[in-house]
Amino acid sequence: MSESEQEQSDKQKYEFKKVIEDLKDYEGSGTQLVSIYVPEDKQISDVVAHVTQEHSEASNIKSKQTRTNVQDALTSIKDRLRYFDTYPPDNGLVLFSGAVDAGGGQTDMITEVLESPPQSIESFRYHCDSHFLTEPLEEMLADKGLFGLIVLDRREANVGWLRGKRVEPVKSASSLVPGKQRKGGQSAQRFARLRLEAIDNFYQEVAGMANDLFVAERHELDGILVGGPSPTKDEFLDGDYLHHELQDTVIGKFDVAYTDESGLYDLVDAASDVLAEHEMLEDKRAMEEFFEQLHDGEKATYGFEPTRENLMMGAVDRLLISEDLRQDVVTYTCENGHDERELLDQREDTPEHTCDRCGDTVSAEAGEREDAIDHLMEIADQRGTETLFISTDFEKGDQLLSAFGGVAGLLRYSTGV
Ligand code: ZN
Repeated sequence: MSESEQEQSDKQKYEFKKVIEDLKDYEGSGTQLVSIYVPEDKQISDVVAHVTQEHSEASNIKSKQTRTNVQDALTSIKDRLRYFDTYPPDNGLVLFSGAVDAGGGQTDMITEVLESPPQSIESFRYHCDSHFLTEPLEEMLADKGLFGLIVLDRREANVGWLRGKRVEPVKSASSLVPGKQRKGGQSAQRFARLRLEAIDNFYQEVAGMANDLFVAERHELDGILVGGPSPTKDEFLDGDYLHHELQDTVIGKFDVAYTDESGLYDLVDAASDVLAEHEMLEDKRAMEEFFEQLHDGEKATYGFEPTRENLMMGAVDRLLISEDLRQDVVTYTCENGHDERELLDQREDTPEHTCDRCGDTVSAEAGEREDAIDHLMEIADQRGTETLFISTDFEKGDQLLSAFGGVAGLLRYSTGV
C-alpha cells in the first residue's frame, strides 16, 4: 500500500466508524431494519432480484406497520442500487435501510450506503432484524494488526492469519505419528525411535507450512501466536523448527485444547490480553515520544489551532487524534474576509460569531461547520501526514483528550508555533 493510499484509508476508516457508531444506536420497533452485504463479484442485478423477492415475501408479515416499514426499506435500497453499474465497487458494498425509533412513537427512515469497505466482503448477506448488522464492518475496521497463528499437537496442526479481528484458517496438516501403544513384535527401543522421528518430521512439516506462509509477510507481521497442549507447543518452539526470523517474532504460547480450525479461534481468545496490549503499543510509543518532545525537545505541538497551523505548514510528521474526540469546527468568514474558527461540542448549536479582528458579526448560518477530525485529516491528507487515532484506554492516551484538547502532532522540525 502506498503512503497516499494509507492516508486515504485512514480517512475512509474514520468516515466508516462514524456512520457505524450512528447505525449501532438505532433500533426498530419490529424486525424491520435491513442490512445487505454485497461482495464485489456479485452482480447488482442479482441483488435487485433478491431485494424484489424479499419485498414480495414481506407481504406475509402480519403486523401492518412492520410490513410497511420493511417494504419501504427495501424500496429505498432498490432506489440506491440504481446508481451502480453491473458490479459493486472494489471490495463490495453495504446497504442499510429501515424505519428507526425517533422517540414519542415516531419513526425516521434511514438509508446508508457504504462503498468499498477496507476489506473485501466475502459473502452475500441479507439481514432483517430490530438492529442493523454492523459487526462485519466493525471487524474490518478493528485496528490493523497482522498475526500469524499456529496450533498443533502431535496429531494435527493448523496455521492461519489474524487480520484485525478476523481469523483466516489457511493450511492444515495431520501426522502419521503412531500412538503410544506399540504393536506386538516391535522392540520397545525401535518403536520409541520411530515415534520420535515421526514427531520430528511432523514438527518440520508444520514449520514448513508456517514458514511458507509467514516469511514472505515478515515485514508486515506484528507477531506469531502458538497454541496447543503442553508439551507439544513447547517442544515445537524449543526445537527451533521455525525460520529464525519468525522464531524471534513469537509473542506468546497458549494452552489450547483443539488443534483443528476451531483451535485457531481458541488461540486468539486465549491471547486476547496480549493482543490488546500489542494493539496499544503503537499508540503508547507515539504518546511517549510526544511527552519526551514536550519536555525536552521542540518537535511537539498540541491543541487544535497550533496543530492545525503546523499541519498547514507541512511540519507535522504524525497527527495524533484522540479516538474519543467528538467536536465540530466552525469556520466563520466576516465581511472583511477574516477567517476565524471555533470548536463546538457536536450536540451544541452553532452560535453567532464576533470577529476578533474587526468586531464584525457573522451569523450562525454563515458559519461553515464540519467534524473537527475530518477538517484536520483533510489537511493531513494534502500534506502527506500520517494520522494515528490514539486510544484513551491508557493513561497518556487519556491525557491527550483531557489535557491537550484531543489533538497533537509530532513535528518533522521545530517551528516555534
Ligand atoms: Zn473580521
